[in-house]
Formats: sequence, C-alpha cells, structure tokens
Amino acid sequence: MAKAKSLFRCQNCAATFPKWMGQCGECGSWNTLVEEITPAEETTRRLRTNNSLSEEEISKKRVVFSQVKRSNAAKQRFSTSIGELDRVLGGGLVEGMVVLLGGEPGIGKSTLLTQMILQIMLERKKAVKKMDDLKIFYVAGEESPSQISLRIDRFLDNEHNTYSREEIGESLVFITTTDADELNFLIKKEKPDLLIVDSIQSLSTSFLTGASGSVGQIREVADRIINTVKAFGIPTFLIGHITKDGVIAGPKVFEHMVDTVLLLEGERSDQLRILRSLKNRFGATDEVGLFQSEDYGLREISNPSELFLENTNQMVTGAATVCLMEGTRPLLAEVQALVVKSQLAMPRRVGRGVDLARIQVLSAVLQKHAQLPLAFYDIFLSVAGGFRIKEASVDLGLAVSIASSLSGKKIPQSTVFIGEIGLLGEIRKSPYFERRAKEARRLGFEKIISRETHRDIRSLLKDLNLLGKEKQL
Ligand SMILES: [Zn+2]
Repeated sequence: MAKAKSLFRCQNCAATFPKWMGQCGECGSWNTLVEEITPAEETTRRLRTNNSLSEEEISKKRVVFSQVKRSNAAKQRFSTSIGELDRVLGGGLVEGMVVLLGGEPGIGKSTLLTQMILQIMLERKKAVKKMDDLKIFYVAGEESPSQISLRIDRFLDNEHNTYSREEIGESLVFITTTDADELNFLIKKEKPDLLIVDSIQSLSTSFLTGASGSVGQIREVADRIINTVKAFGIPTFLIGHITKDGVIAGPKVFEHMVDTVLLLEGERSDQLRILRSLKNRFGATDEVGLFQSEDYGLREISNPSELFLENTNQMVTGAATVCLMEGTRPLLAEVQALVVKSQLAMPRRVGRGVDLARIQVLSAVLQKHAQLPLAFYDIFLSVAGGFRIKEASVDLGLAVSIASSLSGKKIPQSTVFIGEIGLLGEIRKSPYFERRAKEARRLGFEKIISRETHRDIRSLLKDLNLLGKEKQL
C-alpha cells in the first residue's frame, strides 16, 4: 500500500487522524477535521535544515538595513486599464502581487477580470501596435473557454467595435486543468505575464484526498500557486466564491498568504456593484470602486454622486440629500423617509440600506429633543441607488427627512445635510467636512447645513419649519 500523503487535523485541538470523521475523536467537536499534507511529505517537498546554507546563500538571505533598496512602488505599478479597479488596488498591479477577489457566485467577478484582460490588451495594442509578446493565462475551472469567449464577444460588440477577436490572437491562453500541480507546471514552463485563476475552489491537488473546494484543498492549492507565482513575479488574481451570508469560508483560510483581498458586493437585483479592498499590502484599504452591471458587462461609474441622486430637481416630502465618504471619495446620496401612523403597540422601524439601531436612536432623539410624536408612527427609511450607509454623518439628513415626512412639509431644494446627531440632540461635526462640502458645491448644491450653521436638531427643524405635523395623518 502506498504511504499516506495526507492526514486530517482537528482545527480545535490539533489531534490528527488518518481518515476524515464528522466528529473529532479527541475533543468531540463536530466538523473540525481539515486535511493537510503529512509532515514527511512536507519535508521532501520543501523543507531544508537551516544549517545546510552555503556562505553565498546566507549573504542572499540576510540584508542589513543600510543595503536595503528603497523600492519605488509607484514606478513598478502597471495599470489594469480599469480605473475603478486600479483605485482599489492602490494605483494598479505590482510585480508578483497576488490578489484574492471574493464575492458571491454570479455577482460579476469573472466578468470584471475578463474585461480587465481585454482592456489590458487594448491598451497594449495602442501602445506597441501588437500583442505577440503578451501572454495571459486564464484558468477556466468554472466555465468552458467557449462560454468565456461568448462573454468576450458580448463585451467587444458593445464597447470596442474596432477591436476584433482575431487580434486577441494567442495572447490569451485558457488553461482547462483542475489539477493545481499541472497548473504549476504550466506556469513554470511558460511564465505568463498575468494569471487569473477562476476559481480557487475548482482546483485540487492529488496529494490530498478531499474534494476540490474543501478547506484543506483550498489552503494547499493556494499555497502551491502563490509559491510559484511569487518565485516568477507573476501578478495573479485568485477568484474565490463566498457564501450568501458573507463569510469567505473557504478563501478565508489563505487570506494571510495573499497581498490584497478584494470583495465584489451588490444585490443581484440591483445594478450597483461595489468593489472593496479588505486588505492591501500595496495601498490603502478604505478605497472602493463602483460599477454598474449592464447586459454586456460592468460599466465603471466615475461620477457616482449623479447615480444616487434621484429627486434633487423635484420638491418632495421626506427626501433629503446627504454626503457620504467612500474611501477618500465624497459621494452625494438621497435618503428617503416615510412616516405613517402606526397600528401597532410597538411601531415599526424599517431601513433599507440604513441600520435599524440608527433609526431607533434617531427617532428617540427626535421624540425627546424635538418633541416629535414618533412613538405613534411607523418609520421607513431608505437610501437611493441600493447603497448601504454606515457612517454617522448621515444622521442629520435622516432626521430631517423623518421630520419632513411627519410634518408633510418639504425640505428646501439644493440643500445638503452633513452632520452627526448626539443623544442630547446636538449636531456634531463630521470628518472630511471640507471635502464633502466641495463635492456638494461642485454638483450645484447652494446650501450646506451642518454644525457650522446649527447647534442642535430642534433649532434646525424650527428654521426649516418642520416642527409640528400634518393633520390628516
Ligand atoms: Zn479535536
């Protein structure tokens, strides 16, 4: 019998077993066994004892501070040719950079990266008139090459009529293996300029017995690929599917091995797609990229404020404009409130894109400090454009929209609300105020209401004539 190459280790108590079991025989935990390579295999694969290093190897491995070359990261970066993606990556790709792109199945991860490949080729063609020297590997584990070609056709038809599929020629190479070790062999042999693995869950190594997609397989496969691409400096995107509840269950196990973790989010029913950076060794992690999902693929949203403003030219009750910060970018959005008489002992508080806790605090503050009788009213709040707001600077806009809906009176046009509301009803300053105000002025908003103009919510509502309520409600 062949010697076992793998064993199963309990993630709770570290006991090892030759076979997978539902329950750990040592500590009794359920579903904690994860497959890994046996220590003997591990040794033959890559370990060497430290005392066997030659003088030359030692001098390569230790570098004194004064000899450290300061890398000019800006110089080494190269663009993905998609502005919003570059923004989230911190200015583009870096040699040997490994990016994990996570997201729910069907949200557009493959679409985004296919478009990136095409854009890169297009830019390359513009620059050097040919692409013979460019080689991109696309590991097609989820879809067949013909399915991906169909998507490429769709994109080419819509975006770049002048750019035909013949011109892609031999630069784009589909790899159809599901064996991570075969893939590694191909990478070493052909050294592509860029590698896309779609997806990490579709690959497995024969060193482990678990099915592809199991935690043990994902960790081992990622480890093998990352080691190879790092050795050759090949920028790499690893696509990882995450579950509906937002847990990067599988891909989580190798987040520490990659340079950058990006997450593509959005409701499938909505067109908006938000690309966030959760970790980035080469840039800030608070940047977001915004896309709109179209028939042919993803369209970049370079002027996001316009997308989230719906009723700025109309006068309606219950709508107010706020300014959010997404990363370093200010973004104007409309919040809407609907306040109606409640039939329930416990009036309802419902938010779409707004936290329930925030609605509860705001309605309590408005009741206490502005004497609005909200205890008898249901409150529904939403943000236009399917956006999710987390920051406190929207308090003011939400409070004013609630008061507007309750009173049946309109909020003055061309007004933006920027500020947090404290439990005592006081209006507080929001960070990046100047940047937000500038964006608001740029989009033609004449009046900015904030801590600068009003000290507390009651005096503001009084000024706007929003105290009191409509009779027939
Ligand atoms: Zn255990």
